[in-house]
Amino acid sequence: MTAKRRILIVGGGTAGWLTAAYLAKALRLAERPHLEVTVLESPDIGTVGVGEGTFPTIRATLQFLGIPEAEFIRETSATMKQGIRFVDWARTPAAGRHQQFFHPFEAPFYAEDINLVPYWLLQDEATRPPFAQAMTLQSRVAQAQRAPKRAGEAPYTAPLNYAYHFDAIKLAQLLANHARQLGVKHVQGTVTNVALDARGAIAHLDTPLGRFEADLYVDCTGFRAELIGGPLGSPFKSCRGQLFADRALACKLPLDGPDMESCTIATAHEAGWLWDIGLNGSRGVGCVYSSSHMSDERAAEVLRAHCGTEDVTMRSIPFAPGYRERQWVKNCVAVGLSAGFLEPLEATGLVLVEAAVGMIAEMLPHSGPIDAPARRFNELMALRFENIINFLKLHYCLSKRDEPFWRDNADPATIPARLADLLEQWQLRPPGRFDFVLDTETFAFFNYQYILYGMGFRTDLSAGRADFTQTAEADRLFAKIQRFADRALADLPSHRALIQQINAMK
Ligand code: FAD
Repeated sequence: MTAKRRILIVGGGTAGWLTAAYLAKALRLAERPHLEVTVLESPDIGTVGVGEGTFPTIRATLQFLGIPEAEFIRETSATMKQGIRFVDWARTPAAGRHQQFFHPFEAPFYAEDINLVPYWLLQDEATRPPFAQAMTLQSRVAQAQRAPKRAGEAPYTAPLNYAYHFDAIKLAQLLANHARQLGVKHVQGTVTNVALDARGAIAHLDTPLGRFEADLYVDCTGFRAELIGGPLGSPFKSCRGQLFADRALACKLPLDGPDMESCTIATAHEAGWLWDIGLNGSRGVGCVYSSSHMSDERAAEVLRAHCGTEDVTMRSIPFAPGYRERQWVKNCVAVGLSAGFLEPLEATGLVLVEAAVGMIAEMLPHSGPIDAPARRFNELMALRFENIINFLKLHYCLSKRDEPFWRDNADPATIPARLADLLEQWQLRPPGRFDFVLDTETFAFFNYQYILYGMGFRTDLSAGRADFTQTAEADRLFAKIQRFADRALADLPSHRALIQQINAMK
């Protein structure tokens, strides 16, 4: 007889419900009566309620869960995201002139027998187009507020890679409804005590409703980390020495005007940056900053100035950048903010949830000790966090901005050794695929290329110019990319028209 397995997920935020729905689907809960998945959620403690940007992996996740794309877009006020436009990151705006670059989701144009990157690097800096514009049509498509796909295209697929912006609270509700349909049980109660057994594993949880026991406890209690950071005492590893931002002010505004961007806009300011995300019907704006470099009052001023109005209701969200090196301890595994958080730049919160839950589903033992995968899980998640720290730091350390926050960010003592080593190598060659081990990476070598060359980093190939003999072929391909872009601009609907069309369908 198969032994009963009970999985208790504590927390009903996006992490809790995504974990529940994913495990229910991946472990085929409906067909396995010996398996039980329950979400225990406090009726009194709210969710963090932010997190409006995602990464393209979410498409495969939503499709796997069986949520129709149109339903997801309608129910969460979603729009499409083709990347991030970075404004004023490389330099302080000179006399109101804003410098910008685009980080698209689409990989650079690929050709069998020629790598275009060196040919772009060897072009005249004064006259060549920006890197992303030269390498992919997505840059011009997003700039023109076109959609990445046509209305008739199959759900979750498109000629151009994309993710979404959405209302975080509505997403958690959609996932909750879906998880319940997949057989997940839902109980409301606040954990007031975590009791350990003699081994130091969780014996049971106490709530005003009574006691809860399980084989695996998934800590999705957000920043409170009630289980993993409570009696299980898994230490938190701060990365504040590398990534200084530790606070956000968030607000929602009505969407005004005809524009509907299909990218997140990340605008640097004197001690951090602002996100600006267009949803269907509203705009989510937030100011991320380092409390060591900026007061809360000044951050509020910066946010109001960006919004162009004094009439802003804002919410302050302090956070500690970092993660737990041991996210799976005995019979408890942390997923979501309880496992760690590294500021919302590049929107990695949900990607980390997807990575963790994918691994749990695949590694969960059918019998024997429930914590058998813990060591490997912890190793892979820690590497993933460290690699994201490197990628985020890249955005800061290359800047030529001259305020204290930015100068401190360029201080070599704050740059992780691995990143410093790569930056040295990349002075003489562009990032390549062997720089990264994909299973522990969220970002590929071309994501690094987009940020490096968007920020004005120089890879000097001039000494080897004679080795690059395919200039004519490269020029032909660069011209082809622009012809593809012209055609896409003519063929693709406006982003606003596509979102309206999807919302009108029932
Ligand atoms: P929460 O939403 O905080 O949920 C915690 C849950 O635990 C709640 O249901 C609560 O009731 C429950 N709980 C707590 N204590 C108890 C208890 N004692 N007993 C029972 N239940 C309890 N991610 C992205 O992917 N993209 C973004 O653009 C992005 N932007 C962000 C911006 C900011 C400023 C912040 C702070 C985060 C951002 N994130 C982003 C991260 C994203 O918000 C989270 O990864 C995601 O919402 C998951 O949160 P969570 O479910 O772990 O925690």
